[in-house]
Amino acid sequence: MMIPKRSATGDILMNTNKSLTVLTDIPTEEMQKVLTFIDNANLVIAEYFGVRTSFDIVICHGSWEMEIQVISRRREPPLQYDDTKSVAITDYHLKEIIIRYDVAKFGHYLHELIHGIISKNHSQQLREGLAWYFTLKLTERCRYVRPSYPSWIDNLYIYPVKKLAQIIGDDFLKDFMLGKGVLQEDALPPDVQELFLPEEFYYAKKRYNN
Ligand SMILES: [Zn+2]
Repeated sequence: MMIPKRSATGDILMNTNKSLTVLTDIPTEEMQKVLTFIDNANLVIAEYFGVRTSFDIVICHGSWEMEIQVISRRREPPLQYDDTKSVAITDYHLKEIIIRYDVAKFGHYLHELIHGIISKNHSQQLREGLAWYFTLKLTERCRYVRPSYPSWIDNLYIYPVKKLAQIIGDDFLKDFMLGKGVLQEDALPPDVQELFLPEEFYYAKKRYNN
């Protein structure tokens, strides 16, 4: 799937997210880029999933501003596994997406806006796996827009979700991600079942095994 082209006269659609907060002074053309990324990511998601996120978006600049955002939201140990957190994070409690615009690629916007439509009832590791799986799927033909990710992201999140997708298919996985449809977990392979464990068990187990 490609990034939809914007019409030459097209206005920037910001009516889908509740609000956009900019914590820093941004040059106009940089702001234009930010809005285009958000707009396009929303379009890609709406086209593929049929919904858009209603999460607020916060735009910041530099590692220090991002660090403050991460620290002020730190609640649970799993956050340390969020590799992209230095660039972008999604806060499910406050329904906010925070993006560091000076380093974020289109794929970071896409990844977090996908997080914004994933059912809150899923475990953190399952949400991360689903967000990564669909980020990669939707950027298959334009890989350069992808966030870079280390191999543990592959092992921990992407591989088991890929396996799940092979069993239930992408269409059902999409519905399941949005919170529609129920999965019979005990019929799934053990490593896929782990995605459904309570977060503290899951991460304790992973720490123990590594
Ligand atoms: Zn993520």
